[in-house]
Formats: sequence, structure tokens, C-alpha cells
Amino acid sequence: MKKDMFNDSSNLLVNYRVEIYSYQLELVLGDITIQEVDAIVNAANPYLEGGGGVDGAIHRKGGPAIMKETREKYPSGCKTGAAVPSNAGNLKAKYIFHAVGPCWYVQPDRFDLLSSTYNSCLKLAIELNCKSVVFPSISTGSYGYPIKESSVTAVNTIGDFFRSIQGQNTPLEFVRFSLFSEQDFTAYHNAIDKYLISG
Ligand code: ADP
Repeated sequence: MKKDMFNDSSNLLVNYRVEIYSYQLELVLGDITIQEVDAIVNAANPYLEGGGGVDGAIHRKGGPAIMKETREKYPSGCKTGAAVPSNAGNLKAKYIFHAVGPCWYVQPDRFDLLSSTYNSCLKLAIELNCKSVVFPSISTGSYGYPIKESSVTAVNTIGDFFRSIQGQNTPLEFVRFSLFSEQDFTAYHNAIDKYLISG
């Protein structure tokens, strides 16, 4: 496993990148809607209704084509722990993966559900031939999940997924987190370092 830290001259303020089982895991501090990747993950609600936070930002900037497709294709929404794909409208991506994370206060099996949310997106990425996926910090806004616990679950799930597909011929090359505060960035940075030490 290799790791490096660097500044980027683009509008991404800070970056951190590690290699885990030949896949790249990256952190950037910034808005997920400006990311140029194959799939942008949206922290959606089970009704796929659109809301505030990252979901609001994606629908505002991506435009109505995204909601049009989710309403047509998924009239009963999406289960917690799962994810469904749509077009990415005006965003510079091929897909939006609408992923429904658990609510910290109401779901006792939240650790498994959060892990399942990340895994569902990673599986979708492979099914849809994506080489790059960017995640927000799922469930840590209005769904109230503490950043420390969530970052450890997110990073461990992704690291273990990379291990599970190690040596396989998959399209996936890198997974990125686009984090919205320095505090979130630090939490994910610490979770990665912990994963690397334990691995
Ligand atoms: P959830 O309902 O899953 O908690 P939220 O959208 O409320 O989803 O928050 C998830 C995380 O996304 C929070 O850490 C929030 O700060 C962050 N966030 C909000 N807007 C953006 C954005 N434009 N880009 C990246 N992250 C964002």
C-alpha cells in the first residue's frame, strides 16, 4: 500500500491519495457537484424526493432530467442500504447513484446499513462499467451519523471491497470522497491511516 499527499492547482483545495490493493482511494475538500468522474453518489432519502444537503445541490446543479428519470424508474423509491442509478443531467459524470444511508437515531442496524450503502454503489459502479466514483460523506448531515464512526465504516467498507476484487479484471480504478468541511476531511484521513496500519 502506498500513500502520498499533494496540493492541486485546480479548484480542489486539498487532496490525499492512497493505493489499496492497486486501487486509488482519494480525499478532496470541496463540492461534489464539480467532480468529473463516471459516477457521483448522492446521499438520497428513501423516497428519492430531493431534499437539502448534497441531494439539493446535485438536483439544483444537475437539472430536472435527474428527477424525471428517478420518478419514472423508481416510483417506490429505494431501500435504506441500497442505491439506484440515473443520468447525471448537467453534471460532468455519466451517472448519479442515489444511495440511501441509515438514519443514526432510528436504525439500530445502522453500521451494517451504512456499509451496505457503500457496497451497493461500488457494485453498481462495476456493473455500469465505471472507472471512477465520488462519494459524499453519506448519512453525516441531516441523518445525524457521527463523522468518526461513519468515516471508519466508509473507509473499511471500501478497503475491504478493493480487497474482494483484488486481481480481478474490473473497470474500477479510483474511488474519491468529496468532503465538505476540514473536520470531515480530517476524520476520513484518520480513518484511512487507521485502515492502512491495521491492514
Ligand atoms: P444525509 O441525509 O445522508 O445525512 P446530507 O446531504 O444532509 O445527507 O449530508 C451528507 C454530507 O454531505 C454532509 O457531511 C454534508 O456536509 C455534505 N454535503 C452537503 N452538500 C455537499 C456538497 N455540495 N458536496 C459535498 N458534500 C456536501
